Amino acid sequence: MNPSESRSEDRVEKQPPRGLRILGVPIRLHFTFVLLLIFIVTFGARGGESALFNVIYILALFTSVLLHELGHVAVSKRYGIRTLEIVMYPIGGVARLERSPKPAEELWIALAGPAVNVLIAAALWSYLGFMRAEINWNALTAPSDANLLARIAIGNLILGAFNMVPAFPMDGGRVLRALLARWQPEDKATRMAAAAGRVFAILIGLYGLLSMQFMLVFIAFFVYLGATQETAAVVGRSLTEGIPVRSAMITDYRTLEHGTTVREAASMLLATSQQDFPVVLGAQVMGLLGRNALLRGMAVDGPDAYVAGIMDRAFPRVGPEVALVEAIPLLAQTSCVLVMDEDNLLGLLTRENVSEFMMLRKFGMSADARA
Ligand code: ZN
Repeated sequence: MNPSESRSEDRVEKQPPRGLRILGVPIRLHFTFVLLLIFIVTFGARGGESALFNVIYILALFTSVLLHELGHVAVSKRYGIRTLEIVMYPIGGVARLERSPKPAEELWIALAGPAVNVLIAAALWSYLGFMRAEINWNALTAPSDANLLARIAIGNLILGAFNMVPAFPMDGGRVLRALLARWQPEDKATRMAAAAGRVFAILIGLYGLLSMQFMLVFIAFFVYLGATQETAAVVGRSLTEGIPVRSAMITDYRTLEHGTTVREAASMLLATSQQDFPVVLGAQVMGLLGRNALLRGMAVDGPDAYVAGIMDRAFPRVGPEVALVEAIPLLAQTSCVLVMDEDNLLGLLTRENVSEFMMLRKFGMSADARA
């Protein structure tokens, strides 16, 4: 099979985000962020500001948020942590990291973002000072074309300050967790920082409601959501802590012989609850056939084609003794990971079975009890 075919197969299976990339990191706009942009552009232009400068102002703040995230990305990279993607939410960006940083690393990763905003503000102030620009402090609340740079500088200071609020999921909350984690177990530190996040969210939500500033209610909602998600992620992590992949993998599964046709594979897909099939030649694993690839093969090559021609030969794999915590991030990009000891296939790891495993652990079933 030619390599370009197998690469197009990867695209179907792993669906790497297309579009904007900076420093190799894909940038994704969350739909709520797009809504916010539309809202600002529609209602944003006020007072003495021209529509053009309003757009420039928004683009400048958007770029500032991106640079803030790239600050996180750059420091993460120094610790050898890859960034999977940057998602733009209304309350700012989120850099999704390949693995969660250790507390000492997280401290500097979290500080790097707001530091970028402070640097941008300082650079703009220096420039304005150098140009001997008159800054009318009282006029800053009334946007005009003349005070554009000063407003961008202040916008960056606000971004930096808002992100340093010591509440999850803000950077300040991460700093707080990293500091708490010096004296507390990590999951307890997270719970405390997340609780601070929820309290903060409720306070700004209430204030927003009482003062009729619905933008604040909007922000509060996202902070609350973020704090809750972060707690869930940490609970998930503590449920999988210290457990090897071997204990959570699927051991009862079907494989497809190398000479299987797409038609036979499709009936196997229907007959079982399995969605990803290892393709084997004798005892040797040749590839992995996921549901999407199978359906696509059915449509493109027809039911009489062989699975060997449409399977993924560069399938993701992991050793049985690898910690489950480290294997889970692989499942963010693919639906199934093969658990292999050298060349021997031992089991499969899928998102569903990992979440089932965590549910069982939550109800107190130990890892060995399921056997
Ligand atoms: Zn940040």
